[in-house]
Amino acid sequence: MLIVQKYGGTSVGTLERIDNVANRVAKARDEGKDLVVVVSAMSGETNKLIEYAHYFTKHPAKKEMDMLLSSGERVTAALLSIALQAKGYEAVAMTGRQAGIVTDDLHTYARIESIDPTAMREAIDEGKIVIVAGFQGVNKEGRVTTLGRGGSDLTAVAIAGALHADQCEIYSDVDGIYTTDPRIEPKAKKLDTISYDEMLEMSSLGAKVLQNRSVELAKKLGVKLYARSSFSDNEGTLITEETNSMEEVLVSGVVLDKNQARVTLRGVTDRPGIAAEIFNKLAEANINVDMIIQNVGTDGSTNLGFTVPQSELDNAKNVMENFNHDIEGMDYDENVCKVSVVGVGMKSHSGVAAKAFSTLADNNINIQMISTSEIKVSMIIDEKYGELAVRSLHDAYELDK
Ligand code: ADP
Ligand code: ASP
Ligand code: MG
Repeated sequence: MLIVQKYGGTSVGTLERIDNVANRVAKARDEGKDLVVVVSAMSGETNKLIEYAHYFTKHPAKKEMDMLLSSGERVTAALLSIALQAKGYEAVAMTGRQAGIVTDDLHTYARIESIDPTAMREAIDEGKIVIVAGFQGVNKEGRVTTLGRGGSDLTAVAIAGALHADQCEIYSDVDGIYTTDPRIEPKAKKLDTISYDEMLEMSSLGAKVLQNRSVELAKKLGVKLYARSSFSDNEGTLITEETNSMEEVLVSGVVLDKNQARVTLRGVTDRPGIAAEIFNKLAEANINVDMIIQNVGTDGSTNLGFTVPQSELDNAKNVMENFNHDIEGMDYDENVCKVSVVGVGMKSHSGVAAKAFSTLADNNINIQMISTSEIKVSMIIDEKYGELAVRSLHDAYELDK
């Protein structure tokens, strides 16, 4: 049986915790399992390295950032391997390159293009535990790249796919996927299973417990994915294909994303092609536009609002300030957040959105923007009500039951 395990930043946050991980890995090895272990940088390390770079400039070159950030994961991979060897186990630490991970050129947000698992396979066949530094690969020129924040999850899933592993286990400080972030709502309940689609929606909407690209890939490759805690032996949550019984559950989770900023363009000329022009300019600047709202035009002009991640607001401002025609003025608001309700059951039941709106109304929370899909309803509200909204919605759909 071949298992890929991934330990996140908190799980390897101190030397004692790395030792704890080594013991867990050793135990699985004693049970006869073949193992590839992917590790993140120690918690806080990636942010610290980013701050180091920002000491010199606000816009460091992305290639150099990848060189810098990939070092965090190498430290933990080497330390875990050393810890296992000290306990008498055969282990080998590999960088992304040594593990055969080749990506595209999009530095700091690279996509995995291929994995040549030969080196990992040989080490496994020699009886070694393979430890891989997560979050990184190399492009075709051999330059190191990183896979976007939270990207070690993606490394683990991609390796599980490439090695046809029996399962992929993602270990963090929570023992599974909950109905909402248990740090916000202590009454949140752990789910035994969740569909790939719901999990993908939750991750994309801001639940950082799994990186969204990793869930997307797990679905594509059919990787059996578990979310578990490195601090307990609890069962965890299985992320899997949707089953019929899942549709009976109307709503499976509530998600809060505080990393949102709203831009409103006032007095936009109401003519064919204007939206295309605006959003093409934003896309050219690699700005991730999320929600968009356009009012019905009156007197030849209209208002257009959209949201972007907070980190991209400055960039979006620049783009829009240079877009010096067809717009009368702009407003920005960084103090907004997005609350979302997710569930595959929405496909077959009506009234879910209406209930979300009345729940916020009952709490006197104003909704600034709304967007819906088959399996989610998202609302932009004032940031200071984000947590209240999550708890109220969690109550309204009786997710603690
Ligand atoms: P790691 O550093 O191990 O990758 P993360 O911090 O990325 O771990 O993810 C774990 C965190 O995700 C938890 O501490 C929890 O606060 C948060 N989280 C957000 N939404 C959920 C959810 N629905 N279920 C479980 N955890 C969640
Ligand atoms: N260390 C990286 C981050 O903090 C990648 C990861 O932890 O998955 O984003
Ligand atoms: Mg993570």
